[in-house]
Amino acid sequence: MTQINVSQVSSGTLARLVDISRELNSKTDIDDLLTHIIQQAAALTGAEAASILLLDPHTRQLHFKAASDEMDPAMADAVVPLDSSIAGAVLTSNRPLIIADVARDPRWNPSVSQAINFQTRSILGVPMHDVDRPVGVLEALNKHEGRFTSEDVETLSILADIAGVAVEKARLIQELQHAYDELNELDQRKTDFIAIASHELRTPLSVILGYVSFLREEADPAMAEQLDSVMTAAVKLRTLIQDMLNLQYVDAGQAALSLEPIDLGALVREVVLGNKDTIVAKQQNVTLRLPSRTLRTMGDQQVMGIVLNNLLDNAIKFTPEKGRISMGLEVHGVEAWLYVKDTGLGIPQDKLERIFKRFYQVEHHLRRQYEGLGLGLAIARELVELQNGRIWAESVEGQGSVFYVAMPLEGYGPQSG
Ligand code: ADP
Repeated sequence: MTQINVSQVSSGTLARLVDISRELNSKTDIDDLLTHIIQQAAALTGAEAASILLLDPHTRQLHFKAASDEMDPAMADAVVPLDSSIAGAVLTSNRPLIIADVARDPRWNPSVSQAINFQTRSILGVPMHDVDRPVGVLEALNKHEGRFTSEDVETLSILADIAGVAVEKARLIQELQHAYDELNELDQRKTDFIAIASHELRTPLSVILGYVSFLREEADPAMAEQLDSVMTAAVKLRTLIQDMLNLQYVDAGQAALSLEPIDLGALVREVVLGNKDTIVAKQQNVTLRLPSRTLRTMGDQQVMGIVLNNLLDNAIKFTPEKGRISMGLEVHGVEAWLYVKDTGLGIPQDKLERIFKRFYQVEHHLRRQYEGLGLGLAIARELVELQNGRIWAESVEGQGSVFYVAMPLEGYGPQSG
């Protein structure tokens, strides 16, 4: 950073600089930030106009990035070479520079002045840094009265230091936003692909299932056994495709939901019953803890069924044979809490939030021994939130997990007005 002698700056200006620093730090849009800096630079030094030139680290040229309204908007394209300009001299010497009369200075480049259609008489230029790297030059142009003073130099240098850090911060935020947008786009493409693929797979699979069950009825015992394996595989495939198809509910949003009062206890029973065969096959013990009174929430019966089914399906899948699973329903204030508790693998603490992201699986998908697409929980969360509920998980690795769904009790939710 430049050596600054704060004693040269009046206390009023220092107080103003503190305010400006706060304002600049709250801005994340670079253009907005640069405009604000030049307005302050002109106001603080009593100058007609101000401008910012930023250094392109690759070409080592300075580019006008912002300037007062008095200048031609075409200045945005103006490029200033480092070795034959006043701004270049400020940057390379890393020191402030006052030019009282540009016409007498050999470094003055009149072509830039013509390009931006602004008659420059005097310049105060100070280097801008990000921590200790030069990033550009801040210039105040044409002092209204008299000449630029040493207080102007100190004031503009402080402003340039604050500005340098703020610009770099805004640039990093912009980069991050960019990366985030790209990631979202990739995710969207994956989702679109899944939607198309699932629709295309559904019809041929129905044909396979139809023919296999027809042949199964006619088959002799040896053939029947083989057809049963085909049937099991096709049913597994249907479950996967169903997971993919459920995405359509999420993407359609609230419009696709048909809200009605749901008896949550009855729904839990129904979902357990629907999974009876798998539970029996794994010899697991599933217990239900349901209150005697009926608890209702406003929701879409089918969609809530998908959510609970995903949770129970995971509990069964990630719990070993003969393991225990319990499902229950409790009242917490104005909410009904549904839970699915298992005695399975458990989930590492740092993954408890990530498992609700689309396509995320704790195990790498190429090494995994459990089936699935990593979509079930992401869909469950989005569907629960569409119905004004919350979903989260708690777990102890190696001991088991509990998944909770909190839904507003009927009469207390936002839909009830
Ligand atoms: P998948 O179809 O892969 O199971 P989910 O979105 O349902 O996708 O789950 C995401 C990941 O979260 C799973 O792949 C698994 O690693 C972890 N997970 C989900 N439920 C459980 C559970 N009950 N016990 C242990 N891990 C679980």
